[in-house]
Amino acid sequence: MNLVERIRELKRKRKAVLLAHYYQRAEVQDIADIVGDSLKLAIEAARTDAEVVVFCGVHFMAETAAITCPDRVVLLPDANSGCPMADMCHPRELAELKSRYPDAVVVSYVNSSAAVKAQSDICCTSANAVKVMKSVPTDRPVIFVPDRWLGQYAAERAGRSRLIWADSTRDLAEREGEGAPVVLWDGYCHVHHHILPEFVREAMAKHPEAELCAHPECRDEVVKMARFTGSTGQILAWCSSSEHREFLIATEEGILHPLRKANPDKTFHPVTSLAVCHDMKLVTLEKILWALEDMEPRVTVEAETAAGARKAIDAMLALSA
Ligand code: SF4
Repeated sequence: MNLVERIRELKRKRKAVLLAHYYQRAEVQDIADIVGDSLKLAIEAARTDAEVVVFCGVHFMAETAAITCPDRVVLLPDANSGCPMADMCHPRELAELKSRYPDAVVVSYVNSSAAVKAQSDICCTSANAVKVMKSVPTDRPVIFVPDRWLGQYAAERAGRSRLIWADSTRDLAEREGEGAPVVLWDGYCHVHHHILPEFVREAMAKHPEAELCAHPECRDEVVKMARFTGSTGQILAWCSSSEHREFLIATEEGILHPLRKANPDKTFHPVTSLAVCHDMKLVTLEKILWALEDMEPRVTVEAETAAGARKAIDAMLALSA
């Protein structure tokens, strides 16, 4: 029996569901029951009736599944697959920032720890960040953590022009504008941050017919050059329904696999071959098999933290329903 067959058999035996993010290796996406962006996977994890959830992604995603389905076993095939951006916001530092803006609504990107979510009013993903931002009354300040670029994108699309770039102890810059401020945490995803505008310009010159699609974790300058901006799931939907034949993709390279699979008659180019999240690639077929054999590594969240985080996740899911 080959590796894939052994995984499938053990998956049946354990009554497990295998969820995979679009940034996972192609062979991992191909064996998954459900492949999606963070929003889709959070919704699927919350509604699964499987006894075991194998989360092929990074730690905060498995944590979110452990929070939304506490009676299931959640396995993360490589316990070291973290998210450097999530690690940029520490709950103690967030508490300090909250003390400086006591009437602010705290919006946390799902790419954050359970402890940060527990201090938040509502979560968001890149698919619904604008909708979540629009749900906050304009006379209330917002603290957005941890991604400065997604926060800026969501604020601008929601019509909020007064932005403050901050860390926990100081304001780094302020843009004048109407209404209550949106305070942006000074974090970023290193993969998207390093898709530089000059890489985009070079790629556009090389592929003049291609339309640029960017993830909102990209720098503002890159987002402003894009024909379409959205989450991985939204990029997939947009390219699939477009009559255009050629696209430049400014996000992690794993998305090229489902894009090419769903659109064999279209051409997709990565803006740069450097856009690789090595944390996402830590999950392999062998590690999935070992996880199902050993029922380890498990991800759990302490009850009080989980209860606080659950409120923020549920607030987001209610908005996405
Ligand atoms: S691509 Fe960026 S945001 Fe996503 S898991 Fe990797 S480091 Fe974190």
